[in-house]
Amino acid sequence: MIEIIDLHCHLTFEQYDEDREQVIEEAKKVLKGVVTSGVEPEDAKHALELAEMHKGFVFAMLGLHPIHVAGKTGQEIEEYEEFISENKRRIVGIGEIGLDYHWIRDPLKIKRTKEVFVDFLGLAKELDLPVVLHLRGTGSEAIEEGLKIISDEDIIKAVFHCFTGKPQLAEQICEEGYYISLPASIVRSKSMKKVAKRVPISFLLTETDAPYLSPTDEERNVPQHVKEVYEEIARQRKIEFAETEEEIERNFERLFKVEL
Ligand SMILES: [Zn+2]
Repeated sequence: MIEIIDLHCHLTFEQYDEDREQVIEEAKKVLKGVVTSGVEPEDAKHALELAEMHKGFVFAMLGLHPIHVAGKTGQEIEEYEEFISENKRRIVGIGEIGLDYHWIRDPLKIKRTKEVFVDFLGLAKELDLPVVLHLRGTGSEAIEEGLKIISDEDIIKAVFHCFTGKPQLAEQICEEGYYISLPASIVRSKSMKKVAKRVPISFLLTETDAPYLSPTDEERNVPQHVKEVYEEIARQRKIEFAETEEEIERNFERLFKVEL
């Protein structure tokens, strides 16, 4: 019996509109749980619905992805935060939130993205929920900045989702007590493999970011591909697949205060 977990994916996205239920049923055959992340208000409602329909298997977390910040007014964001507060018991965390210097280049937009990021960190603290961070840019600039912001904001529980930084930075993040989540694209990344080998296993998590980041030639990724991350972690650390499963599950349950 395989007991793997996908910490971060987007089952609500249109790539699954044709066969969403089938994708989830297939995922149930090999996974113990998946977290689907709502990235903006409309998507958030859908994420909650999916979690409701597949209780104990699909978990929801809600956030405002940095690329959706510019399109929202202050009032819309405030209302969305209220919506999240009201649904606090139906979610396991706040995310994804963060910085994105790949898509956002305009200084004014960058400034606002940061303000909204800090705002959502405040919401996470208020609701006592962990955060899942999207920190993307050239090099490790966004990751380093994100790390500084969350420590300044006294965030205790955070996951650096789809970690693309250097192994040394990953170690620093774990020393501060935060988690690193590795995606299935690890199969193509030397630096992710080093991260899998070097950071304490009690700070590692596994994800797909499906429908993105497929490890295969298929364009659309699915949660069951998270298996590749487990295989790579086991290979890099020279441990059994089963031990990897146990460790990741323990991390997941500790972080989200859930039992799978
Ligand atoms: Zn994502």
